[in-house]
Amino acid sequence: MRPCWLQLLGAVLAGLPGISVSADWLVLENLNLIDGTGQEPRRVERLVARDGMIVTIGHEAAIAAAFEAVTVIDLDGAAVIPGLIDSHVHLSGFPGDREAIAGRMAAALRGGITSVRDMAGDARVLGDTQRALTRGEFPGLTVSYAALVGGRSMFADPRIGLASAGHNPGDAPWAQAIDSDTDLVLAVARATGTGASAIKIYGNLDAKQVHAIAAETHRQGLKVWAHATVFPAGPADLLDAGADVLSHAPYLVFAGVDSVPTDYGARREGPYDTVEPGHRRIRKLLRRMARTGTFLDTTLLIYRDAISRAEGEEAGAWSKKAFAWGVEVTRIAHELGVPLAAGTDRFMVDEWSMPDLHAELEILVTEAGLSSMAAIQSATRNAASAAGLADRGTLEVGKAADLVVLESNPLEEITATTGIRLVIKDGVIVHRAESP
Ligand SMILES: [Zn+2]
Repeated sequence: MRPCWLQLLGAVLAGLPGISVSADWLVLENLNLIDGTGQEPRRVERLVARDGMIVTIGHEAAIAAAFEAVTVIDLDGAAVIPGLIDSHVHLSGFPGDREAIAGRMAAALRGGITSVRDMAGDARVLGDTQRALTRGEFPGLTVSYAALVGGRSMFADPRIGLASAGHNPGDAPWAQAIDSDTDLVLAVARATGTGASAIKIYGNLDAKQVHAIAAETHRQGLKVWAHATVFPAGPADLLDAGADVLSHAPYLVFAGVDSVPTDYGARREGPYDTVEPGHRRIRKLLRRMARTGTFLDTTLLIYRDAISRAEGEEAGAWSKKAFAWGVEVTRIAHELGVPLAAGTDRFMVDEWSMPDLHAELEILVTEAGLSSMAAIQSATRNAASAAGLADRGTLEVGKAADLVVLESNPLEEITATTGIRLVIKDGVIVHRAESP
């Protein structure tokens, strides 16, 4: 067998007295690797990470012995999946953010989440957490976040006001009101300056505005993330504009009507009775999404939870319809080849419970008919790609060592993603379950 460079380096260092290699080496032995690429799980003798990056996977001869300060863990055949990525969270924008975010991130890590796509909040706080993470100040999540744009009328929302504290509503670089006078080149440049990786197209914008915003956003190298309908621009307008990700499966219902209402407030009353999820227009839209590789960020859990939270018969009936419709359109989207990204639109209200993403995965399998493998990919490979995190989402050489060691095989039972033994973020153990 040809020795890999690591073995050679190991041999060289081992021969030099007094040199100790730092603990930035991590060696996992005897694992059942589900790498996120869709490849069948495989038994791997050894996975090696250096400085947070995977450098070898396979059966090469003993390299670890050459190092003194290396962490070696025998996993005894346990299943390993890539660190999970929630494609729709809102980490910031609340009072008391600084402490709360560290707590939410710690809870997320314990629950196997290693990255998130943040769909808008206070970019000052999000940028600060990424700075702290880079400097190793606390074990946090990799966050790919959006700067939001919307019609002026959206900015009366008190949540946006909180996330923009210190600015007039609509004037913060991460939450900008767009109208016919807006200089879009400047608006996107201001958004870029916040550290955002995408523009989120939110609400109350028409097709022409959406086209112009998306074109300028792509020209400046950011991604375009949108709600699946933004009123009056509909799902087809957003696809025409080149959106990279559409959020909230039930919103696709608006692709089945001639015109989308002009008021964002109408989003709760989708035409679920008259437009079937398998409607010709919906299928046409989904086929286009499959062709263009546009991700569908599902967020089914929030619709299921709305059923139990609904007050009154009418609200309950609406919630049931929206959830059932969303589940069915997700099933069809998956069958037609639309890449799915599992998002929850929530995050860690209770710091001690399992992250919501696990429930979203369970819904994708038990209700929308995905295989466990497809569900895992929706929260790993697909989610990384939707978030623009090119160095994460799969366990391959050259990718970040973000991974979760499970007690049992999630391909047999998707709920096994909650049975977590070990969580590793950028090659560092950030959570180890206490042995029973
Ligand atoms: Zn959201």
